[in-house]
Amino acid sequence: MTKEQKILISGVKPTGRPHIGNYFGAMKRFVDLQDDYRAMIFIADYHALTTERDAKKLRQESLDIAIDYLAIGLDPKKTIIFKQSDVQEVTELAWIFNCLTTMPFLSRAHAYKDALAKNKEVNVGVFDYPILMAADILIQDADVVPVGQDQKQHVEIARDTAEKFNLAYGETFKLPEPLIDENVATIPGIDGKKMSKSYGNTISLFASDEEIEKQVMGIVTDSKGVGEPKEMEKDTLFAYHRLFSMEQLPELENRYRDGGIGYKESKEILIKNMKDFITPLREKRKKIAENTEPVIEILKQGGQTAKHSAFLKIAQVKRATGLL
Ligand code: AMP
Repeated sequence: MTKEQKILISGVKPTGRPHIGNYFGAMKRFVDLQDDYRAMIFIADYHALTTERDAKKLRQESLDIAIDYLAIGLDPKKTIIFKQSDVQEVTELAWIFNCLTTMPFLSRAHAYKDALAKNKEVNVGVFDYPILMAADILIQDADVVPVGQDQKQHVEIARDTAEKFNLAYGETFKLPEPLIDENVATIPGIDGKKMSKSYGNTISLFASDEEIEKQVMGIVTDSKGVGEPKEMEKDTLFAYHRLFSMEQLPELENRYRDGGIGYKESKEILIKNMKDFITPLREKRKKIAENTEPVIEILKQGGQTAKHSAFLKIAQVKRATGLL
């Protein structure tokens, strides 16, 4: 923890298994940045309630994400790992923010608009999702929020909310910045659309060898033959090569540009490189999952630390608003 103890916060929803979009867009960065900040990474279980109705599943998936975090290299000595619902103060702060936020403002959020466009029946939790996220971020006085491109707007809403509060009640909240790695801002799914659990186009971060083979073979490509030049920028396979085939990248680029590689061979190279990358992660995860007691203890400790700072902040907010 250096960089003048700047605070980093982010989280992942415990709904389904994390995919390589979550990993390269966000989770890997949590690991890369944990030495440089006071890092706080949470399991967004309150957020998951907007779609999850099965208590047993939510409990299991929350524990699973904690195991995933440890398997990818988050170190509990460096990073405060906690469950969002262990910091109930965020819901209290979200209510206070709700009273400062207008409906037309939240109606502009992409996630809400997407849900409406899909004719989904939108619950109030989905509509209010950005405000709960603002509370998660602002209650910890976070400076930076590493997220994928899809969450950029939510961090901007958190900034706007901080400004609104500061204007109404006096300087209380820092304005957080999104940290987006432009190289991996949006990872495509195997169908070429954004990789997302809700589109069913994901490659799991802990996929088995068979799943990797099946999913890579299912990647949609155009119909160019072996000898024809190919467009790297439009090819989903090539987007994955940029993540998994670093060593062969210059050679692959030449062969794509000049012709001389078929999609079948390109997929075979990718399968090998993905297996080399995923196998050690999967094995480490399996080992951690054999004994979950230390994982539960890490969450408990992390929850207490996160709750402590949230408690101090909510007291400040209550004084400012007249609730205290
Ligand atoms: P979620 O599972 O929706 O809570 O997302 C967890 C994190 O992964 C967020 O920071 C997202 O921005 C990021 N993320 C999700 N899908 C992708 C993607 N296809 N490409 C890059 N980042 C992503």
